[in-house]
Amino acid sequence: MLILEERTDYSNDRTWCFWRFAPHRFEHLVSHAWPKMTIRAKGRTISVDCNLTPYQMIEALPFYHAAQDAISRSCDVELALGTSVSGEPKKVANGWQVQTSRGVVSASMIVDTRPPRSRHPSDATLWQSFSGQEVIFDKPIFDPCVADLMDFADPRIDDVLFHYVLPFTPQRALVETTVFGPKPVPISGLLSAQEAAVVRLAGGAPFQVLRAESGVLPMGMIAHLPSLGPGHSRAGLMSGAARPSTGYAFQRIQKWADEAATAIGNGDAPCGHQKDPALCKAMDRLFLRVMRGHPGRAPDLFMRMFGNADPARVIRFLSDRGSLIDCAIIGATLPLPLFLGEMFKNMADIPVRVPQPT
Ligand SMILES: Cc1cc2nc3c(=O)[nH]c(=O)nc-3n(C[C@H](O)[C@H](O)[C@H](O)COP(=O)(O)OP(=O)(O)OC[C@H]3O[C@@H](n4cnc5c(N)ncnc54)[C@H](O)[C@@H]3O)c2cc1C
Repeated sequence: MLILEERTDYSNDRTWCFWRFAPHRFEHLVSHAWPKMTIRAKGRTISVDCNLTPYQMIEALPFYHAAQDAISRSCDVELALGTSVSGEPKKVANGWQVQTSRGVVSASMIVDTRPPRSRHPSDATLWQSFSGQEVIFDKPIFDPCVADLMDFADPRIDDVLFHYVLPFTPQRALVETTVFGPKPVPISGLLSAQEAAVVRLAGGAPFQVLRAESGVLPMGMIAHLPSLGPGHSRAGLMSGAARPSTGYAFQRIQKWADEAATAIGNGDAPCGHQKDPALCKAMDRLFLRVMRGHPGRAPDLFMRMFGNADPARVIRFLSDRGSLIDCAIIGATLPLPLFLGEMFKNMADIPVRVPQPT
């Protein structure tokens, strides 16, 4: 197996967080876990005890190194760094061919995890754009046991903005500014809100930025690029990995990786991401449409969900583990007229566009 990767090396470019439901194979890479979380809006704070399913974090660099180590120990897998793939794979007699920066590569099966080169706002119902900084503050300000999942301190009219604070020690935290909006926001558009959040936390005392990360995640892809035929599949963030209502993708990618590895082990072609159950998909779609149409209501919606339903249900729902009862109880916390109104609104106000291949 050959992995074609255009990066020449890996950096600590992201952190992956998720709620832990069961022991997993990356336990040794978890750098921090939070047994408690808060959601804040309009001067109110909801505290959530998630000790039974702690919110865990894995930093990218140790994860990349662990993956590279495993690859170097394997006789079956090779990683070709600095190798860029261009265009779409071509079907040939015995499989597939791809054009790379090092020439043509042939394979019997292909998994393409490249994101499309260009993103169009109408490829997704909403976009999650975020910019974060790992900051060390001069004085202790955090409880390292409590993650601030959403703080709607700076409400906006046209999109949803909140801050996300993951404290590692009383003085060091990852502070992020996230926007859910109808189009991707460049980092420059998040900078002033991010700086204001850090300055506010510092309370006038000095601080030092250690590292930065940023990203844009699709929330509710309108259409995915199809497979090109037997032996070709697509996976990753822009091909069904991201949970529509949250953008969380890490655990879904691990689940897909297991399924794809099993398929290959059985001599079958690797699969793509499994489709979400119909109810979960419908709830996510409606929720995203409500947030898109009524961004000013978003803080209240999240406060209702976490405040009026058992947070364990919400965490299960957000982690693809919600039962029918969880879905019903979470649905019942939300304002019915707002959701009914959005349900009956003409779908045509969200243009559908088929994304273009890489
Ligand atoms: C900063 C950040 C924080 C995130 N935090 C979370 C989180 O807390 N929880 C969560 O669940 N999800 C999170 N996500 C979302 C998601 O889990 C990650 O984006 C995840 O890395 C997506 O995996 P992927 O394989 O789709 O894309 P990537 O990890 O980006 O991998 C795609 C790879 O393809 C390579 N590539 C691209 N084009 C080419 C080409 N033409 N030729 C060769 N190689 C190419 C890239 O170099 C890259 O290595 C986060 C994302 C970001 C960016």
